[in-house]
Amino acid sequence: MQFPFIDLKKQYELNKTNLDNAMLNVLQHGQYIQGPEVKLLEEKLADYVGTKHAIACSSGTDALVMTLMTLGLSKSDAVFTTPFSFFATAEAITLAGGTPVFVDIDPHTFNLCPKSLKKTVESVNKQGKLNPRAVIPVDLFGQAACYEDIEAISKQYDLFTLEDAAQSFGAPSGSSKACSFGDAATTSFYPAKPLGCYGDGGAVFTNSDELYDELISLRVHGQATSGDKYDNVRIGLNARMDTIQAAVLIEKLRSYPQEISMRNQVAQTYSESLCDGVVTPFVKPENESVWAQYSILVDDRDGLKNHLAERGIPTAVFYPIPIHLSKAYKFLGYEQGDFPICEEIANKIISLPMHPYLEKSAIETISTAVNDYVNA
Ligand SMILES: *Cc1c(COP(=O)(O)O)cnc(C)c1O
Repeated sequence: MQFPFIDLKKQYELNKTNLDNAMLNVLQHGQYIQGPEVKLLEEKLADYVGTKHAIACSSGTDALVMTLMTLGLSKSDAVFTTPFSFFATAEAITLAGGTPVFVDIDPHTFNLCPKSLKKTVESVNKQGKLNPRAVIPVDLFGQAACYEDIEAISKQYDLFTLEDAAQSFGAPSGSSKACSFGDAATTSFYPAKPLGCYGDGGAVFTNSDELYDELISLRVHGQATSGDKYDNVRIGLNARMDTIQAAVLIEKLRSYPQEISMRNQVAQTYSESLCDGVVTPFVKPENESVWAQYSILVDDRDGLKNHLAERGIPTAVFYPIPIHLSKAYKFLGYEQGDFPICEEIANKIISLPMHPYLEKSAIETISTAVNDYVNA
């Protein structure tokens, strides 16, 4: 049997007529950049997550970079984040001129640990070399980080909180949704994310009018937002979203809530089918995951990966190399052992196929293959 890790074709086939029409409509009206669909999408996105503004842009990475650019960072500014994320989270800090300072993770949710954050901010203050400026929690695998505690720490130390919701668009947490936490939040519409388009795309969310105006300007080369648009008022980017991607997202957003409940069903079936030797994902009672990934912990991760590959079951490892141990960040001087929880999880984690259209029989076949290996 063959299983795709993520089945984007199935999703397209189910909604082909609407998606084709949405894309054709853009080809026919001809406003390929900043067309009317972009504005409409922004309204729908903000409405979905419950923020005043959404700014559509070219990728999740550019969304992070743009937002950090508004802080005017320099090398002596510390931006705290997790070492257990996609590389872009930390990379954006460096691109925007700041210095990433890593903080270990919670062993159950794999999200940034608020207690470690507080300790790290205090030790940076004590050392007196860097100025604490911001924190970027990541909602890893689709579950919101612990914003109640993180925002209290941000308030105490005057940090800007930027939620990296690339994997968690709209994930419920308490009475709020992911993308609505902090001073601003960013997401990604890369095809494999829970809400994906057919290319690259992203968005920034905020309730601040001031930040909104600045982001609109940064998105197009720092253009003036009133008066002559060729009167550039700051250094910006080309970070626009293509109109075709906006049209695709408007269509896909319609089926998103249903797809999220299907993903939850898949996750539940996995968790019921996997044996005791497997650590299944922990979702806090106040949270609901949107399951960007279904990730388990096992002692012999590489052995399991091979065992499943031999049976035609694809898996992925997010993330085999914690960011603080990457070659690119060698210059920061971190060493093996600096973040023991993150490093242990990185050795044990493996993600199983996850998408809304994964059938029960497939989940059971995959689970049996996992259980056989773990029990052998
Ligand atoms: C995917 C991802 C990004 C980057 O998004 P792109 O759209 O690929 O640029 C940033 N942060 C996290 C946590 C991600 O998973």
